[in-house]
Amino acid sequence: MGKGFFQVPVAVNEPIKSYAPGSPERTEVLIQYKSFYKAKVDIPLYIGKDEIRTGNTKPLSPPHDHKHIVGHYHLAEKKHVVKAIENALTARNDWANLSWEQRAAIFLKAAELVAGPYRAKINAATMIAQSKTIHQAEIDAACEFIDFLRFNVEYMAQIYQEQPDSSEGIWNRVEYRPLEGFVYAVTPFNFTAIAGNLPASAAMMGNVVVWKPSDSQIFSAKILVDIFKEAGLPDGVINVVYGDPVMITKTILGHADFSGIHFTGSTDVFKSLWTQIGANIHTYKTYPRIVGETGGKDFIVAHPTAKPKQVATAIVRGAFEFQGQKCSAASRVYIPRSTANEILEYVKEDIASFNSPGSPEDMSNFITAVIHEGAFDKLARYIEGAKKDKEAKIIAGGNYDKSKGYFIEPTVILTTDPHYVTMETELFGPVVTIYVYEDASWAKVLTLVDTTSPYALTGAVLATDRYAIDEATRTLQNCAGNFYINDKPTGAVVGQQPFGGARASGTNDKAGSAQNLMRWVSPRLIKETFVSPEDYRYPFLGK
Ligand code: NAD
Repeated sequence: MGKGFFQVPVAVNEPIKSYAPGSPERTEVLIQYKSFYKAKVDIPLYIGKDEIRTGNTKPLSPPHDHKHIVGHYHLAEKKHVVKAIENALTARNDWANLSWEQRAAIFLKAAELVAGPYRAKINAATMIAQSKTIHQAEIDAACEFIDFLRFNVEYMAQIYQEQPDSSEGIWNRVEYRPLEGFVYAVTPFNFTAIAGNLPASAAMMGNVVVWKPSDSQIFSAKILVDIFKEAGLPDGVINVVYGDPVMITKTILGHADFSGIHFTGSTDVFKSLWTQIGANIHTYKTYPRIVGETGGKDFIVAHPTAKPKQVATAIVRGAFEFQGQKCSAASRVYIPRSTANEILEYVKEDIASFNSPGSPEDMSNFITAVIHEGAFDKLARYIEGAKKDKEAKIIAGGNYDKSKGYFIEPTVILTTDPHYVTMETELFGPVVTIYVYEDASWAKVLTLVDTTSPYALTGAVLATDRYAIDEATRTLQNCAGNFYINDKPTGAVVGQQPFGGARASGTNDKAGSAQNLMRWVSPRLIKETFVSPEDYRYPFLGK
């Protein structure tokens, strides 16, 4: 146990490097990118102290050059998943009993490793695995991950300091125990920072973890494992398995010591996991914590008083950065008739100024590839649908090509039907649908925004009229967990805009906040009485 009330370093957001031509960081990341591109990495399962190579492998390829192979990863069988759980449970006692400042030091060291010696590696790996431009890699894999680590250490210390009052003669104290069992972390492809944070935040609070990364993020997940190891995370605290997600999940959710799931991904998958947990409830020793951040159909709604150039910029940045594959990406937009033409002209001008989609190695590219063939084919299907449907018209983009990489042009669909399929379905790509409303229907359009989608992740209102902003803020209260005024709906920063949505978008446990970390502890109240009574009779019983 610690011998002192230690103060953790004050967390500050990691400054974003520019990667401007001629900058040393640009040179360094490009050298690293080229070296990763030609090396053939062989990625094992990480279970306890072992690196396991099952021999049953799958290739890893960059989405922007899908015939090129940058390495292989080994697939787990059921016995490896069982072994991962056993190793986690074996590590649990020592890890849970390690004093908190030692745990904090490991994750603070990990943050410094990302900020320094691993920065180019984690960014280059994210550019290759997820086809992120250097700016998108930097704000995710470097800065957001560093911020998660530093701010979560600060929140952990705040949680431990949260203590009850004590009255005369007694001392009440709360200890924040890790969950009894192990936590299952299931992570998405789209953010390296989320992939690192979901296992790390649970482990930071003293839990042991089995982590299943997305198949499309394994190349950068491997660098996260290298960082955790170099930071001194003991063997068995975070065990990493890949392979058939259904088999892995069934094995884990069927275990009596399963005590929580930290999930980010699509809504349907999360609902299926919740259903399995419900069906297994009699198996578990404890009620599992279920934390999931899931899909979105994020909106921008512009009032007639909004400035057209600002609306256009919010659309272009909000919908197309990282090819619209942010859970917060704007994908349905409502603009007023009076300024619609001006807004649409600006949007088209901006899109015309982009290079054709290409490799992130060419740093003049704003748009790169979508994650895999499944995503590409799905997007192409909706684009073809829009070309045929009479209530839809493609006003920018609409072309796609998968001969070298999974490239989809940034596409704008204008629809006359506010319930057109692409106004309601999460497409997760560089496709945005715009509906023009009559200026006089502002109140109605707000109700439409609120009731159109089952999701409630992010949304933005643009207006200069304060009454309109107030009305939107009230009417749209439950349709976004992160609500933006006069901004794009993407780009949440840890420590400033804790992130998460409600309705079908998740449990809203706000990644990067004390609220989230509270889900990974089970508080124990300890009441100590200094002089214990020796007579059962209360004074009122006296004669
Ligand atoms: P996904 O649901 O396809 O995959 C997420 C994880 O679940 C992966 O590790 C995957 O292997 C696993 N998985 C897939 N099928 C499974 C199954 N049947 N059983 C168990 N596990 C399974 O999502 P994705 O394509 O990686 O990520 C995109 C989705 O994630 C989008 O819907 C996006 O909105 C959402 N997302 C949400 C947030 C948020 O904070 N709300 C953040 C990032 C991404």
